[in-house]
Amino acid sequence: MLTEYDLNEKKVNLPNVILSDPEFLKNKVLKGLDVVLGVFALLLSFFNIYLQNYPLAAVEVIMSMTCWFVYRKTQDHSISSTQAMLVPYFFVMIVLYGTYTTPLSNGLLLWSFTFPIIFYLLFGKQHGFYASLIIGGLQVINILNKDQIELYATTNISINFLLAYVSVWVVSHVYEMNRENVQDALRNLALKDSLTGANNRLSLKHIFEKKVKAAEDFSIVMLDIDLFKNVNDKHGHEAGDLVLVELTKTLIEVLSHEQVFRLGGDELALLIPKSKKAALSIMERVRETVEKQLIKYKEEIINLSFSAGISQWSPEKDLPVMLKEADECLYKAKSNGRNQIL
Ligand code: GH3
Ligand code: MG
Repeated sequence: MLTEYDLNEKKVNLPNVILSDPEFLKNKVLKGLDVVLGVFALLLSFFNIYLQNYPLAAVEVIMSMTCWFVYRKTQDHSISSTQAMLVPYFFVMIVLYGTYTTPLSNGLLLWSFTFPIIFYLLFGKQHGFYASLIIGGLQVINILNKDQIELYATTNISINFLLAYVSVWVVSHVYEMNRENVQDALRNLALKDSLTGANNRLSLKHIFEKKVKAAEDFSIVMLDIDLFKNVNDKHGHEAGDLVLVELTKTLIEVLSHEQVFRLGGDELALLIPKSKKAALSIMERVRETVEKQLIKYKEEIINLSFSAGISQWSPEKDLPVMLKEADECLYKAKSNGRNQIL
């Protein structure tokens, strides 16, 4: 059952980049992009006002203001996915249009190399791939359309542009693939129990916070295997491990993976999206299933049962309070003779 230490809930806070969502990283990249582009656009607008190129200066001021607007949105994390596209696509339009209307010697084309990096970082593999493909293609058409320089030169520039662009694109693609894999691995390490594959205590904390935010009715079940020490003593630690794995499998089959958490030892928590009354009847079914389950270890058959306690959520209860409540019921279930749910 829960120790005092457990009840006080360790203050484990994983970096959001692992725990929550890829949006966290993207938000940071977008914030940086907004600052850089916002400042550059503003500086260039002063320059163009000085050169009396007022239309271009106006576009740059609008770009700078868009960057400021999006930056504010990223700061309070209220940015929608459409708003997140505003700055990068505005930037793309300026570079594409600028390359189309000005001589290649202006060097605007060079900004194209930043696009695969920006799009992969901000929008992931799929979006990054298609955006890079379309932008790269349009820029090659742009170069080939430059009839003021001879065909030989445009072909050379196109080939060099394409090779350099594809190099940046491939590196961005490989980087993003790797980043996704590493993030998945880190998430698993941080949020899953290594023996059973069930979610762990930290994951429960994370999902609990989400449930509370959604203000949905739910109950937490605290479950502890009956006389588990006997399994270890009689059949060995390996058999004990197998029992933990098989019990978790059954719980996941009857409920779902998102609802099953191993808290430690032979203790699991279940999250049931129902009131205590409804959770009791669901758990009664689970109890019967587990009671009938026969676990084969080498030539021996192991059967098991569990006891459980349930706590129903209400807005004033945090996770430690709910676990304590469920633990008290579990304690009573054990004292009453085990293999029961209270
Ligand atoms: P009760 O019905 O009162 O719960 O009796 P119990 O024997 O199950 O007692 P308790 O829950 O306190 O015992 C937990 C035991 O689980 C103690 C420890 O040896 C064993 N255990 C904890 N973690 C593991 C593990 O990862 N693998 C194995 N095989 N055993 C474990
Ligand atoms: Mg036990």
